[in-house]
Amino acid sequence: MFDYHVHTEFSVDCKTPMRDNCAAALAAGITEIALTDHIDLRPSDPGYGYYRAEAYFESLASVRRTFAGEPLTILAGAEVDYHADTEPAVREFVERYGREYDFVIGSVHYASDGELIYPSTFARSTPDQVFADHFRQLIRSIETGWFDTIGHMDIPKRYLPTKQREYDPARYREQLFPVFDALIAGGVAFEINTSGVRQAPKASMPGPAIVRWYVEAGGTRITTGTDSHTAKTVGASVRETLEMLRLCGMESVLSFRGREGTPVPIDDLLSVAPGHGS
Ligand SMILES: [Zn+2]
Ligand SMILES: [Zn+2]
Repeated sequence: MFDYHVHTEFSVDCKTPMRDNCAAALAAGITEIALTDHIDLRPSDPGYGYYRAEAYFESLASVRRTFAGEPLTILAGAEVDYHADTEPAVREFVERYGREYDFVIGSVHYASDGELIYPSTFARSTPDQVFADHFRQLIRSIETGWFDTIGHMDIPKRYLPTKQREYDPARYREQLFPVFDALIAGGVAFEINTSGVRQAPKASMPGPAIVRWYVEAGGTRITTGTDSHTAKTVGASVRETLEMLRLCGMESVLSFRGREGTPVPIDDLLSVAPGHGS
């Protein structure tokens, strides 16, 4: 099983050393982990200037030596924040470092007003406006061709005010198909981000309805990730996610090396006994 969204001490909001994440991955039966720290390129972001690529790659080389011989592949990854108005900085980063990673997530964390998507976003805009804007930005991020997968596709649902928590993805179905078209045309994947299972909205981002429509649209490229910021959640809900994907008609998830994604049958991943490697 693969956990392709894990933060380490190279992210501004995380203190976990790489080796703790890797040890936790082994214990959870994860066979491939991507260490995907935040690349925040907006000057107002709390993480701006925090990431140090050279130090990240040094630490990665060290943790790879520590875990050599273990049944765990450790991938160089990044979660790059994308927003239309930071595009020049993102381009510069991707052109400079992109080839050094195995796997790059593109994530939209900001609304079009330049503020982080947060509960306060919904005080300024209706849910329909927030989602429409978010899906437009996703399409733009996909069309850059800079990313291997799209992070937490329907993240605004995480911050919906409690009284509007009855999020119904069917309301946005028509807006999602152009997102799927862009993904399929660009050969870009999207992730099932399991962090939503552990916190609000108590469901993966996205959930099964969106996966079914994507399969209907002809999509085949999905990655799995926990978005862990502590070692204890590495691998959490990945097995359940694979079972969900299979029920939705997906047959494989992607494994990455050097920015190239290869499909791996879900049945092969699920046939390994739980806790393997622990
Ligand atoms: Zn994110
Ligand atoms: Zn993340």
